[in-house]
Amino acid sequence: MARQFFVGGNFKMNGTKESVTKIVESLNAADLPANVSVVIAPPAPYISLAVEKNTQKTVEISAQNVYTKASGAYTGEISANQVLDLGATWTLTGHSERRTLIKESDEFIAEKTKFALEQGLSVILCIGETLEERKADVTLQICARQLDAVSKIVSDWSKIVVAYEPVWAIGTGLAATPEDAQETHKGIREHLAKTIGAEQAEKVQILYGGSVNGKNAVEFKDKVDVDGFLVGGASLKPEFVDIIKSRL
Ligand code: PEP
Repeated sequence: MARQFFVGGNFKMNGTKESVTKIVESLNAADLPANVSVVIAPPAPYISLAVEKNTQKTVEISAQNVYTKASGAYTGEISANQVLDLGATWTLTGHSERRTLIKESDEFIAEKTKFALEQGLSVILCIGETLEERKADVTLQICARQLDAVSKIVSDWSKIVVAYEPVWAIGTGLAATPEDAQETHKGIREHLAKTIGAEQAEKVQILYGGSVNGKNAVEFKDKVDVDGFLVGGASLKPEFVDIIKSRL
């Protein structure tokens, strides 16, 4: 079964009204393939702006993070319901910068994922190992642990896209080789087959993230379990369009 190619753009905590407008307008002006799903995640203050400016049918807007509750006394948190109210349809959960800098646990991320799905958002669930874990040869165990926290409380994975992002490859210019990414993605899919069932596991899109750019994206073209990319730095640049078109 062919899984649709999917490219996410995570702007992280970058941008201004002017630069976010420019990025969305350049996507509007691009001749994007109709069979590629594109999701961009501007910082929360610019979600509305991105939604309003976007004219591409294949481009959707995402939050980078949401909380586990709809509203209330949670100062500084982002509500999935408010994200939906602004017209966004996705959120990231579990990005490694939140796992490491904000110390979000697997269980908290799983709860956020569950709540976001229940409210009607689709979720890009980010997982991946640190350099120490890779050296210790426990990459798949780490990914399995991060996935299991979610599969314990979420049984329907039809609105989840998994982004495998080795921490050592994010923002470092050191992308995983296409062979390494394929091997890990295959292991992730095999693990998911055991926990959420083979049928669902076959359908889940697994993105690779970590220093993907306009040049190296094409090298992953023939990797059967690499269903797309989650792009950080390069999603702020014109080469983002080259990544979206890398499977043509
Ligand atoms: C990311 O932030 O998810 C990411 C993959 O970053 P970069 O592409 O800059 O490595």
